[in-house]
Amino acid sequence: MTKKIISAQSLGINKQLVKHDAIYVIEKLHANKFDGYIVGGGVRDLLLNKTPKDFDIVTNATPEQVKKIFKKNSLIIGRRFKIVHVIFDNINPEKMINNRPINERHIIEISTYRSSKVNKNNLNERGRIIEDNNYGTQKEDGIRRDFTINALYYDPINEIVIDYNNGLKDIEKKLIRIIGEPKERYTEDPVRMLRAFRLAVKLNLQIEKSTFTPFAKMKHLLTHENKGRMYEEMLKILLSGSAVACINKLREVNLPHGVFTLFDHLFFKTKPDTFAIKSLEKTDARLQETSDVSLVFILSGLMWNMVYTAWEKLIASGTNPHQALLDAIYQHRDFANSIGITKYTFSAMRDVWLLQLEFETPTIKHLGHILTVPRFRQAWHLFSLRHDAGQIDPVVFKWWDRFINGDNDLRILLQEELPKEEDITKTPKKRKRKKKTITKKEI
Ligand code: ATP
Ligand code: MG
Repeated sequence: MTKKIISAQSLGINKQLVKHDAIYVIEKLHANKFDGYIVGGGVRDLLLNKTPKDFDIVTNATPEQVKKIFKKNSLIIGRRFKIVHVIFDNINPEKMINNRPINERHIIEISTYRSSKVNKNNLNERGRIIEDNNYGTQKEDGIRRDFTINALYYDPINEIVIDYNNGLKDIEKKLIRIIGEPKERYTEDPVRMLRAFRLAVKLNLQIEKSTFTPFAKMKHLLTHENKGRMYEEMLKILLSGSAVACINKLREVNLPHGVFTLFDHLFFKTKPDTFAIKSLEKTDARLQETSDVSLVFILSGLMWNMVYTAWEKLIASGTNPHQALLDAIYQHRDFANSIGITKYTFSAMRDVWLLQLEFETPTIKHLGHILTVPRFRQAWHLFSLRHDAGQIDPVVFKWWDRFINGDNDLRILLQEELPKEEDITKTPKKRKRKKKTITKKEI
């Protein structure tokens, strides 16, 4: 393959869309006589006129050399392939907490060019790469990347793009084409097959024929992949902004069961979970506008119907609603852990779920608590989805809707409307109402 160097301007790249942090990192690498290029999704998205979500950087400096440049603000990470994280603490004036702009931690990932030589000792019995710490040239690095459109190198200082694999042609043709021999590349790393589908759906691209064909015979390899890696891939799909379309695509191509157990449970069956689909549609729509969607919300929305079904069953068998909800959540703990959801994430999901009962039965006594819990907003979004799905008494929903969107005066009036008893739908115990006024400040 020949090396092509093209001016970034002639390709219509809008340098304004490159984050200052990425430019800063490249300038520093240059100042220390090293290469510094943006590679992967960052360049690809700029060329497709999309706003990139992050900028990954490659260099000929080793991780240790990079660490020397960025010192305390950097961290060498990774086992399979060492990379360096450069950490920035930026103040975001658009986001405030208590009238103060918040500090946002932002990471730029710097990797060293990889060698194209795969050492046979580093392959497992299925031919999959298990360890990989050989450094190489830029050209070799290009060969090791997955798709031609992901192997373009952009230097925003000298304003050039370097292309070894005809990636620019494929950008024009809107094609995802694997670099090298497809079967070999999927054997080395089966996850590339999933990446092709995700990127095709998210960026509205076609998968080139020889890149697509081996999938039918090789898709079973995905069932051997490590749980953590598959969890990461699942999150990438869920956060892609095109999750529903991507899941539909995976269903259409008959992704084997056991690759994404959560999707098997929710979507890849005769009667898919409509609540989960609706919840994901909302997330997709929101992600098209902002990147500010919490993973805890997405996962608690996806798993809600499983918990809800168990909850209803337990109530029907005579358990009190609070205990029933605790038990229903507990019943799903092992499942969540088995698909890679951490204990920490699950405990946050639990908070979102537990708040559902408090939303269903607003009382003066609990109002103060519910408004101050950190997961309040996420729980409210889930409650709204449940309302759309017909799970909530419309009178109760209307009350909350007015309360949350109302001013202090309206809130005080609305508190007067709360029933004297705690029970609106589910809680059997009756409690005396205490007078307490909640103001906007407490939210
Ligand atoms: P996204 O917009 O989802 O971040 P991306 O292409 O940037 O898409 P990353 O996972 O951030 O995806 O990967 C960055 C780059 O690393 C890719 O563009 C590609 O060049 C390379 N890469 C990632 N995963 C693989 C893989 N499994 N095999 C080969 N190269 C890969
Ligand atoms: Mg990326």
